[in-house]
Amino acid sequence: MACPVKVLIVDDSPSNLFALKIFLKNIDAEFVEASNGHDALQETLKHDFAVAILDVSMPEMDGYELARRIRKRKRTEDLPIIFLSAVYSDNYHVFKGYNSGAVDFLPKPFMPEVLTDKVLFFIKIYKQQVKLRKTIRALERTKVLVLEQNKILEELASQDMLTGLYNRRQLAKILKQEAEKSRCSGGDLSIIILDLDHFKKVNDTYGHDFGDYVIKEFAARILSCISDSDFAFRFGGEEFIVLLPQTDLHGATATAENIRRLCADKLFQNLPHTISMTVSIGVSSYRNNPPKQHKDMIRHADIALYHAKGNGRNRVSVYSGLIKPNASL
Ligand SMILES: [Mg+2]
Repeated sequence: MACPVKVLIVDDSPSNLFALKIFLKNIDAEFVEASNGHDALQETLKHDFAVAILDVSMPEMDGYELARRIRKRKRTEDLPIIFLSAVYSDNYHVFKGYNSGAVDFLPKPFMPEVLTDKVLFFIKIYKQQVKLRKTIRALERTKVLVLEQNKILEELASQDMLTGLYNRRQLAKILKQEAEKSRCSGGDLSIIILDLDHFKKVNDTYGHDFGDYVIKEFAARILSCISDSDFAFRFGGEEFIVLLPQTDLHGATATAENIRRLCADKLFQNLPHTISMTVSIGVSSYRNNPPKQHKDMIRHADIALYHAKGNGRNRVSVYSGLIKPNASL
């Protein structure tokens, strides 16, 4: 059940407070009473009010001062204030009331119906504001959810489903971004292309499930050999690419050799099948052979890969700029 709307009534006279509640008895609200300005301010810290009805003439802190203090606080700066006064109802005091933050000023005696209507109006506004705030909070929660889901979708769209590596679509984007970074920093950028040797035979002999296992296991071995700042992609069926920012040809060749060795030395075992696999690898670096376009780096590494394949597979071949495509095939 929703909490009742609260209305603050402040008057130093207990009989006035009593009378006010009688006047407003038809309003479905909880009336919180205060007999002086200090207590009233305390109540505004404890509750959210739809409207405050203040007596003007009160000892210690009069209604004007109380209204000014209510306006000063962030929490209550928009609280509608209605002044009731029998003594100060001339123009000067009415304007003084508005200047101190009142939205209405009712001289006594007033018709209870008029006050009831005004209070009902502010309660209606208050309820609309509460509803609006709830809607805003719900929208904010939805926005957070949508952003989270977009992030997940983005990750899924950039991933190869089988291996969890980046997919081919991400290569052009990341290559361009890393080439730009290297150009600005003056650092190097290397690329490694890896192709599992005779992989087709694995699928043909042991089936695609085992073939998938080999691909996943090889992807895991690649990841175990590279650093967090490197990027690994599944480029095609059994073809992979690693981008190594801030790494020269020497460093990339060492990484490629580690991957080659880890592939060849450790059996691929997923019962009932156990096989040995080798990989051929091509390496190229930005500084060693500056490409005309970023994508030429892939072509350079690919030429080196073909060289490795042509020289007996299970080896790392480095693009020197002198190797011609199919030169050794
Ligand atoms: Mg009074």
